[in-house]
Amino acid sequence: MYQRANEDKLDFIQKGLKDYASQRNYDFGPKSRENISNLSKYISHRIINEYDLIREILSEHNLQKVDKFIQEIFWRVYWKGWLEHRPKVWTDFVNSTPSYRKEDYEKAINGKTGIECFDDWVNELKTENYLHNHTRMWFASIWIFTLNLPWELGARFFLKHLFDGDAASNTLSWRWVAGIQTRGKNYIARESNIRKFTNQRYVNTALNENASPLENHKIYSLNEVRQLHTEQKCRNIVLFESDLNVNEKQSFYENYENVFLLLLENTDRNVKLDDTVLNFKRTLQQAFKSKITNSEIVSVDDIKKLNEGFDVLYPAIGENLDFLNQQIKDINKIHFIGLKEDIFCWKFSKKGFFNFKKSIPEVINFLLHENDFFS
Ligand SMILES: Cc1cc2nc3c(=O)[nH]c(=O)nc-3n(C[C@H](O)[C@H](O)[C@H](O)COP(=O)(O)OP(=O)(O)OC[C@H]3O[C@@H](n4cnc5c(N)ncnc54)[C@H](O)[C@@H]3O)c2cc1C
Repeated sequence: MYQRANEDKLDFIQKGLKDYASQRNYDFGPKSRENISNLSKYISHRIINEYDLIREILSEHNLQKVDKFIQEIFWRVYWKGWLEHRPKVWTDFVNSTPSYRKEDYEKAINGKTGIECFDDWVNELKTENYLHNHTRMWFASIWIFTLNLPWELGARFFLKHLFDGDAASNTLSWRWVAGIQTRGKNYIARESNIRKFTNQRYVNTALNENASPLENHKIYSLNEVRQLHTEQKCRNIVLFESDLNVNEKQSFYENYENVFLLLLENTDRNVKLDDTVLNFKRTLQQAFKSKITNSEIVSVDDIKKLNEGFDVLYPAIGENLDFLNQQIKDINKIHFIGLKEDIFCWKFSKKGFFNFKKSIPEVINFLLHENDFFS
């Protein structure tokens, strides 16, 4: 899997990167994805670490020539940091119980709405476990404003089927489309835009193009992010599937007696994942295990039974952290290890992306001079 990821990455850097800025918004269909990287399933599990990827690209390319791609990667970093400052947004999402018309919902998730493009995308999401970024925007917009379904159910549907399902990118993007992330500014999917950027594959799509943003009067206060450490403290470390990077960390893991690999099953998840997605995650875990000899796959009960304190590679806001918060009796026995890059970048994620963007030169400077993950 690591080799495959590396090959896919090199392939994109050699072939797709140069035209990325002008071509990235086109969705030419699942058989033709050369205009985008398709790396999200690796990046979201850190099979490819996003900071490594930025460093690698900038070692060969001038920033001006690749800035759009670098900026897109920073969207992921930014969303994660933003959610770290407002964990309640995630909690409210997973605990939400919105009302909806069951019949409309069933039609939507079964691709039976009669809106050709949407029905095709439902099918694609279920079979490819991926959708193009522009299509995710159209999909979410149609879901919310044409089908009148709650955004929370759409976001859950995405998490269930996407290989790259990510608490921050997914929840906050759905909120953004709905018009509650950037308040009062919703994203409207337009027939003309879909026609153009699907290369005329979908024409005459009848949509609600005049919808107002959703209203959400809740104000989320800014929290301090959890304090993370950059050095080992305990004999054992627990890793979730959200960070299975090995490249620079091999020697770091060798210092542990045990590296415990934990993947939550659906019984321990609020948002249940499709079997294909869970199996994909299992494959990634196995690939990690074959690289790091002192690692072993463990169960939730094994972790709950650990008596002594243990290190955890910080999984960020999401299901994995919820599990630790809710099921480990003494959370203080956990010593959270974080990546220096995350800790640095999240400082700039308190406000909007525009604000983060202004800090990108400073962030890049940090990344190019700090290439050791932990200490
Ligand atoms: C409603 C909605 C839901 C989304 N849910 C997720 C999700 O669960 N997980 C996820 O990783 N991305 C999510 N995205 C962001 C984006 O659609 C995907 O990251 C992208 O489509 C992945 O394809 P790629 O790897 O070919 O991206 P590329 O265009 O090649 O971009 C390279 C990398 O940059 C990052 N990236 C690119 N665009 C974005 C973006 N808008 N936001 C955050 N990161 C980005 C990803 O890590 C991606 O792999 C969502 C977007 C929307 C509109």
